[in-house]
Amino acid sequence: MEIEKKDILKKLDGAIFRAISEESDRLNVDTYVVGGYVRDIFLRRPSKDIDFVCVGSGIALAEAVADRLKRRKSLAVFKNFGTAQIKYRNTEIEFVGARKESYDRNSRKPIVEDGTLTDDLSRRDFTINALAIKVNRDGFGELIDLFDGLGDMDSLLLRTPLDPDVTFSDDPLRMLRAIRFASQLGFFIEAETFEAIERNRERLKIISEERIVDELNKIILSPAPSVGFELLEQTGLLPLILPELSALKGVETREGVGHKDNFSHSLKVLDNLARTSDNLWLRWAALLHDIGKPRSKRFDPKLGWTFHGHEMMGAKMLKGIFNRLKLPKNEHLKYVEKLVSLHMRPIALSDDEVTDSAIRRLLFDAGDNIDDLMLLCEADITSKNPEKVRQFLKNFAIVREKMKEIEEKDRVRNFQPPVDGQEIMEMFGLAPSPIVGELKTVIKDAILDGLIPNEYEAAHQLLLDIAKDKGLSVKNA
Ligand code: ATP
Ligand code: MG
Repeated sequence: MEIEKKDILKKLDGAIFRAISEESDRLNVDTYVVGGYVRDIFLRRPSKDIDFVCVGSGIALAEAVADRLKRRKSLAVFKNFGTAQIKYRNTEIEFVGARKESYDRNSRKPIVEDGTLTDDLSRRDFTINALAIKVNRDGFGELIDLFDGLGDMDSLLLRTPLDPDVTFSDDPLRMLRAIRFASQLGFFIEAETFEAIERNRERLKIISEERIVDELNKIILSPAPSVGFELLEQTGLLPLILPELSALKGVETREGVGHKDNFSHSLKVLDNLARTSDNLWLRWAALLHDIGKPRSKRFDPKLGWTFHGHEMMGAKMLKGIFNRLKLPKNEHLKYVEKLVSLHMRPIALSDDEVTDSAIRRLLFDAGDNIDDLMLLCEADITSKNPEKVRQFLKNFAIVREKMKEIEEKDRVRNFQPPVDGQEIMEMFGLAPSPIVGELKTVIKDAILDGLIPNEYEAAHQLLLDIAKDKGLSVKNA
């Protein structure tokens, strides 16, 4: 490891560390910075939270430090857990007393007693997260590495400090953390640790959906999320979390005709998209865009395998998935539904002659999400044939160009029809009724099809013409 003492000391500089060091000495407790912050020094990653363990009362130390840093107001004490937090500038500082834990089989909440530093580091999830650096004046900057965390850091290995079967059975969330770190940091799960995840996978059922989703989101936001999802599948965890995604795996062959493996395709799309966008929900859309394929798969002797309507089927499945995972069912669900349901539209456009009307309709249906939709569609090109890829990308570039022209000309992206329902009702003296909706649709279609411009006068005139045909009489023209 090429990290030198001076690199460590640089990361232990500043008011926070000074205050904690001096207050620890005053209270006569040994204190260590532990966990992610220490790991990230060696990985040269920035980290936003800092965890401290002291052999004594973490709460008492936190109170002393808060007073000293004049952060009494931001101090949050969790008596039941024996922990306390201070927010200092943009950093969350967490304090805990060194502890020993024993677990009940039905819960990931341990019975906690005071313990030594060794007890505390042994209960941590991975050796790379079980490093500690002393911050008392005597021994300031000294690294404690009881489980060869540095060695594992060099070999890029995730390994549990103790027997992995015990570690994972005690707190099954650690299985997801292993996979998340592998995906996020580009590490490998050591063989015995990996096998223990396979053996303990069913234990996941004691973990709340919220925590599972927290880890899933971190996997999705990692540089190549496919790493995490492949591991979830290989360990057998994926069917327990997202069976709909697992169901995409595999290739069926009939009359010598196979289709692509939609699981690896989906992961490829997610990886592609990860290169162009950090938007979590767009990444979710990429992951789930083909989720409707198993249910819409048909074999046609002439056409081979078809997945007609899979985008609508997929969009329909999303509510159930969001419900089960307790994902937010507000605008995020709507957004993902919209992208999944529209993801075939730009491709269809680039197939034949692109008509203005088709482009206008797409702009209207996608609204403000049109740019995200195009990113998704570009990520969706996973053909291994470079000629095909080139052709698709070229077509999308043409579609984008056309969209720009039409948007400048017609402003349909977020357009509201120039004559609204209220006005239609007043014009013809109508009560709210289906006919009002029909008239609105006629106007909208006429504009999107380019039959009339997106203007009040034209829309008004068209209404009068239709009204005549329908035998409606004008009350208020
Ligand atoms: P990040 O902050 O990037 O999520 P981290 O490793 O800092 O990663 P935290 O959740 O902040 O993770 O936890 C801080 C430390 O606490 C970890 O490094 C690890 O030592 C320990 N830890 C956290 N969760 C667990 C767990 N479920 N089991 C065992 N140890 C854990
Ligand atoms: Mg952390």
